Amino acid sequence: MDRFKNKVALITGSSQGIGAACALKLASEGCNVILNGHKFDERGEKLIAQIEKMGQKAVFLAADLSKAKEAIKLVNDAVKEFGQLDILINNAGVEKKADFWEVTEEDYDLVMDTNLKGVFFGIQSFVNYCRKHKIAGTVINMSSVHEEIVFPHFAAYCASKGGLRMLTRNLATELAPFNIRINNVAPGAVSTPINQDLLEDKKQLEKVLQNIPLKRMGKVEEVANVVAFLASNEAAYVTGSTYFVDGGLTYHYEEQ
Ligand code: NAD
Repeated sequence: MDRFKNKVALITGSSQGIGAACALKLASEGCNVILNGHKFDERGEKLIAQIEKMGQKAVFLAADLSKAKEAIKLVNDAVKEFGQLDILINNAGVEKKADFWEVTEEDYDLVMDTNLKGVFFGIQSFVNYCRKHKIAGTVINMSSVHEEIVFPHFAAYCASKGGLRMLTRNLATELAPFNIRINNVAPGAVSTPINQDLLEDKKQLEKVLQNIPLKRMGKVEEVANVVAFLASNEAAYVTGSTYFVDGGLTYHYEEQ
């Protein structure tokens, strides 16, 4: 399949995990990609080499997306790299575990600024570009099952992903006249560095798996496949939705 021939995608937080898988998936179908993270290191180097081997172009632009100014600049710089930008994948995200009564303002700000504020202004910058050049751009936000279901001890994370849920619903309507689509992908428990503690705690992992009807963690490629579908023309009539990639976790029912 060559669904992304002559297209350019910006994927935030793509040095590792789900973001890296999205970059590889899109590139494997003809997309040129702009990678991003706090800083360029050997992971970015390796990804660029892999993507170039597939025959596509890739560059890495460092930016701290918890800062609105950097999120806006990243989109503007991304446009300059290959002269166009068609797909924005807001993947960068952080979580901080703490009892609600102990959450610090610093941690709250980090989570909300990265997962919601940076995303908000990155999309704004992309929309301004799309409107100016009459581009039917598409946005995919990496949300979480926790835009829908509770996650005790992660209140700020849930608030940020819940905010992302309504941001997407709202923008789908506001941006439809410009043929700009926006959707969320909501992973459940996926094996990535963000879940390192869980993966190392056998007892806790077993508990988590009990709540997943498919009884296993998700793979980054399984999230990337859904992202690619939503970014492609196959999803031309899909906007304002959340696609859950969670092995059935969100709406599971435990037989008594
Ligand atoms: P990860 O920690 O492996 O990757 C996240 C990437 O984002 C990292 O490379 C990190 O450096 C980057 N990043 C974080 N803050 C940034 C910032 N301010 N500026 C630039 N880059 C930044 O995590 P992952 O599991 O691949 O998660 C990706 C997304 O998927 C996140 O938004 C996360 O909330 C969401 N998600 C993950 C899971 C899961 O089980 N892994 C489940 C639900 C949702």
